[in-house]
Amino acid sequence: MRLLRLARNDKKGIISGKSLFIQLMVYCSLLIAHGSLLCSDSALAKLNIVATTPDLGAIAKEIGGDKVDVKSLARPTEDPHFVDARPSFITILNKADVLIEGGAMLEAGWLPPLIEGARNKKIQIGSAGRVIGSDGITLIQVPTTLDRAMGDIHPMGNPHYLLDPLNGKVVAQHICDTLCKLDAASCPHFQTNLEGFSRKIDEKMVEWRKLTALFKGTKVVTYHKSYDYFLERFGLELVDTLEPKPGIPPSPTHINALIPRMNEDGVKAIIIEPNKEKKTPEFIAEKTGAKVLVLPGTVGGNEETEDYISLFDYNLAQLAAAIGGGH
Ligand SMILES: [Zn+2]
Repeated sequence: MRLLRLARNDKKGIISGKSLFIQLMVYCSLLIAHGSLLCSDSALAKLNIVATTPDLGAIAKEIGGDKVDVKSLARPTEDPHFVDARPSFITILNKADVLIEGGAMLEAGWLPPLIEGARNKKIQIGSAGRVIGSDGITLIQVPTTLDRAMGDIHPMGNPHYLLDPLNGKVVAQHICDTLCKLDAASCPHFQTNLEGFSRKIDEKMVEWRKLTALFKGTKVVTYHKSYDYFLERFGLELVDTLEPKPGIPPSPTHINALIPRMNEDGVKAIIIEPNKEKKTPEFIAEKTGAKVLVLPGTVGGNEETEDYISLFDYNLAQLAAAIGGGH
């Protein structure tokens, strides 16, 4: 607004703030068109990155650093399958240079109409600015036949792969490749950030494996099939989920059959995400002696999970304290 006012008050023919900015942008565009990148750091705007979920947004921040602005659409406490699609999302997507989605149908229930409404060529499928996180990830539970008629919301396999930190490294690489294409001058910066992020995960993995070795093989149940990659990576055994199928609420028949199985198997914990109702897990806990553990499924669910690494620090510490492997 200040720039606009400056431009209107300019009656002496001196270059106003707004026109100076436009001229700079034109000048920089010309330089870039001629292969020079002199202006990219100083005058060009930061890349606008929109991530569908906070974990994707957190990884984008790690790689983009101060060269990017990142907005995440889903709130940390929202179920990523059922995000409340606010009208402001269309405006945000309209201005995006990059859209990072989880893929594997994670956002199938809410994202497609928003992208259509945003009318932004930069983020269409196949455009340089569209990152599909699941590309290059080995998805688990990929069905042999499509079964959406039964209400399964994982028709392409399990889309919660970011709860394995090693998959976070793969997504970080995708994001780095995309940012390098869109802002070549800042590519060394992105690559340095990627190396730092990957190294941090590798170092942390040593610590996390040491901690989880104490409760390797412990049997748990979860509400939704959200923690499968996490449990597999850290050596815990999933007995079943409270949902009979992903996205189908727990039924009395399913729960009544699950309780004796949990007792037989000696299940120690019922892991749920903050967005799930607690009545059913608490009822089962009473019947089985298993502890209800609320573990954030994404970054920012609470103060302790402000970035991708701390999400694992927090969740693994909670698990260790609850199932007896803690110090
Ligand atoms: Zn799911």
